[in-house]
Amino acid sequence: MSTLVFLEHHGDELLKGSLGVVTKAATVAGGDIAGVVLGSDVRALAEGAGNFGAAKVYVADDPQLEAPLSQPRVDVLAQLIGDQGIDTVLFANSVLAADVAAGLAARLDAGLNWDLVDLTQENGKLVGKRPALQDSVYVDVGWTSEPRLALFRSGSFDPSETGGSAQIEDVEVVLEEFSTAARMVDQAHEESEGPSIEDAPVIVAGGRGLGGPENFTLVEQLAKALGGAVGATRAVVDAGWYPYATQVGQTGKTVSPKLYIACGISGAIQHKVGMQSSGVIVAINKDANAPIFEFADLGVVGDVHEVVPRLTELVKQRKGG
Ligand SMILES: Cc1cc2nc3c(=O)[nH]c(=O)nc-3n(C[C@H](O)[C@H](O)[C@H](O)COP(=O)(O)OP(=O)(O)OC[C@H]3O[C@@H](n4cnc5c(N)ncnc54)[C@H](O)[C@@H]3O)c2cc1C
Repeated sequence: MSTLVFLEHHGDELLKGSLGVVTKAATVAGGDIAGVVLGSDVRALAEGAGNFGAAKVYVADDPQLEAPLSQPRVDVLAQLIGDQGIDTVLFANSVLAADVAAGLAARLDAGLNWDLVDLTQENGKLVGKRPALQDSVYVDVGWTSEPRLALFRSGSFDPSETGGSAQIEDVEVVLEEFSTAARMVDQAHEESEGPSIEDAPVIVAGGRGLGGPENFTLVEQLAKALGGAVGATRAVVDAGWYPYATQVGQTGKTVSPKLYIACGISGAIQHKVGMQSSGVIVAINKDANAPIFEFADLGVVGDVHEVVPRLTELVKQRKGG
């Protein structure tokens, strides 16, 4: 099996999600794991992937790949897959990765299994695991042809350092004329303080029980006191109370912090699937029968407007702040 992992980067860092997929691939498929980094001035990034299990990293370093556009990446990957006889290509989900994976599937007429949360090898065959029926069951999925393409739900795997190093190999960048038709006009980055919810060891999440967008300051203050990030439910994101990027759950992000504090969140199955692997789950809800208490490790039955500020004060006192 010859496996390639699409290594996405932001600025001068490889994304944790991509490195988690490298770690998983190295466990499932053994040593023959390669990564590919595409961008401009990205050579230095490639070496880092060896530490997570990639034996080789292909580098497509070209100013034409500077903008995060999918079609030029599809060109380079299609060529690389053909040249190297790669049979499996794995992606950690992101807007760009999903676009590249879909484009590659169309270009190579390849099967793409998406929204996977696990990968195993059974009797020499790769088997993906995909949640279905609103995440209430898992189904096993496979591929009937090569190359096999797989897109994993964000946060599915934690990267684990191996101390290894990768052999770096440059890839020639030849783009199709139609692939350069789109150009990036503008790119804006959201201003944010503190860790992102994918990386934060602590997440304080707010739900509709907060009562309104202005009350998100309660969870923000607690998150700040704990050095954590703020998460949200889809109900509040849909209502425009908080940015979509913070949504945890089936149609948001999958997170696994050490501590997850759910404030005014009912604990619907679609929210649960995105945070159930957190180390310790604390729920604050005024309804003692809220479903979240069925899977929380610690629960406080009370009003978020009273409990959360007091908790923030206590944390600050403990920390001497
Ligand atoms: C296909 C699909 C995908 C979905 N994907 C997601 C997803 O990715 N993420 C997600 O979160 N949801 C998702 N949902 C929506 C999900 O089903 C729930 O509707 C949503 O999670 C509920 O959000 P909530 O807990 O904020 O609101 P509610 O369910 O309205 O719960 C609010 C809670 O706050 C409590 N409360 C009220 N006032 C207070 C107070 N003053 N103090 C303390 N507690 C209080 C209430 O008792 C209640 O338990 C999805 C739904 C579908 C159908």
